[in-house]
Amino acid sequence: MLRGRMMDMPLLISSLIRHADRCHGDVEIVSRSVEGPIHRYTYADVHRRARQLAQALTRLGVRAGDRIGTLAWNGYRHLELYYGVSGMGAVTHTVNPRLFPDQIVYIINHAEDRYVFFDLTFAPLVEKLAPQCPGVEGWVAMTDRAHLPQAKIPGIACYEELVGAERGDYDWPQLDEWTASGLCYTSGTTGNPKGTLYTHRSTVLHAYAASLPDVFNVSSRDVVLPVVPMFHVNSWGIAYVAPMNGAKLVLPGAGLDGKSLYELFEAEKVTVTAGVPTVWLALLAYVMEHGLRFSSLRRAVVGGSACPPAMIRTFAEYGVDCSHAWGMTEMSPLGTFGSLRGKHLGMPPEKQFEARVKQGRAIFGVEMNIVDGAGNELPRDGKAFGDLLVRGPWVTSGYFKGEGGEILRDGWFPTGDVATIDADGYMQITDRSKDVIKSGGEWISSIDLENIAVAHPAIAEAAAIGVAHPKWDERPLIVAVKKPNAEITREELLQFYEGKVAKWWVPDDVVFVASLPHTATGKLLKTQLRNEFKAHALPK
Ligand code: AMP
Repeated sequence: MLRGRMMDMPLLISSLIRHADRCHGDVEIVSRSVEGPIHRYTYADVHRRARQLAQALTRLGVRAGDRIGTLAWNGYRHLELYYGVSGMGAVTHTVNPRLFPDQIVYIINHAEDRYVFFDLTFAPLVEKLAPQCPGVEGWVAMTDRAHLPQAKIPGIACYEELVGAERGDYDWPQLDEWTASGLCYTSGTTGNPKGTLYTHRSTVLHAYAASLPDVFNVSSRDVVLPVVPMFHVNSWGIAYVAPMNGAKLVLPGAGLDGKSLYELFEAEKVTVTAGVPTVWLALLAYVMEHGLRFSSLRRAVVGGSACPPAMIRTFAEYGVDCSHAWGMTEMSPLGTFGSLRGKHLGMPPEKQFEARVKQGRAIFGVEMNIVDGAGNELPRDGKAFGDLLVRGPWVTSGYFKGEGGEILRDGWFPTGDVATIDADGYMQITDRSKDVIKSGGEWISSIDLENIAVAHPAIAEAAAIGVAHPKWDERPLIVAVKKPNAEITREELLQFYEGKVAKWWVPDDVVFVASLPHTATGKLLKTQLRNEFKAHALPK
């Protein structure tokens, strides 16, 4: 081998914030604070305060490899934790505050968090958690002395006092790039949550990939607002992508309703945003109801669960390019992105739309494969569907502390998604392995049925689930939420399926409900629905 002569420089998270400070030091980070007012400062400030935080943690005795928990919204102090904790060689463990308290207790104890930093919103929650988390040495309220909560929390400390006591003259250590940097537990619907342990290397590589023109395409001329939470898969990498590219960052805090988001979009001239479909439903409803327009927003990225095709069209009517992204906690999270190829540009909009509704093409770095039950590779014809396997430098090789044992199959990570891949490389999720409706030995895609339901103007949200059937094993049932003031009957919705799917795919029944259950991360909680409607009598 002829060895090349390039420098041996590790890929480190601290280099992202150092770069943002040096090259984009005056660029703003705007946060809707939990205390109320809008907070503004710059990348230079983030860098200084992250170093002060690293010094404060060192003073508390935090060492490399220790886990530091966070229970926090998207805000500037959370960003400082991202850089201060990981930068010093400890592990930023983002905990999803929307999980059930029992799950949170399990996660904090399993991770062995030494300190947990929390936003004021979560003080009542922390009061309940603290007695059950004896390993936590201190709970740090992310606020100043004046706003310190009155809650009974043992070892409570004040963030601003800890940080304010330090000078910030801290040199980031030159870590091995394989050092663990972040930890995020998956909120699986069954079993205990499992932790994905990211490295500095995987995080920086993922940030490069996420910045690419066919992915988030974020530049120093952009203003990015991640609605996707920093407590769930690193806000899809945006907390790293923005400093890498010098983009202005707008952090919405707890204000995730349509009105609060719209106001922030307009006031800060946001150009790019990302979030799950439920958030956009609320935003678009607000915008429509008040006859508003977006003056600066150009792109909205949708992922976390399938983007209803109708949403892509609605965004387009408002001049916003809505792209589909797919990924998972175990993938840092990005795997595919639904941007168009050159060949699509000359095509009629309907043809382009066929590509846009799919989950997208593999981002360089991620390889994908679809296989049948016996592990045989399936054709990439857009029709054959099978288990989706992935591999790449930001895909997990196993869960934290070896939970779940060996999870790879011949070096591939089984995603638990069922998908097709077409000749142009676009992947389309047809279902979760456990959600497909199995009728007469054939599979019906629950997602396809849901997309058709929500394309009806009277339907706000819908879930398709399999209900036991004596002859066919399972038959599809639609559980749907009507739009406010909209009227539609069961028969009308069933008729809407005719001509859109094969006859045997048309659901057997429809039930209207006031709301659907979601997981803590905004996905439909189908296990609960299947339970609820287990005994549902389908019409003959
Ligand atoms: P999580 O690890 O909680 O982010 O969940 C990952 C799972 O969410 C994936 O395995 C998919 O089942 C689902 N998911 C994520 N993005 C999409 C998408 N764009 N379309 C459909 N499902 C998605």
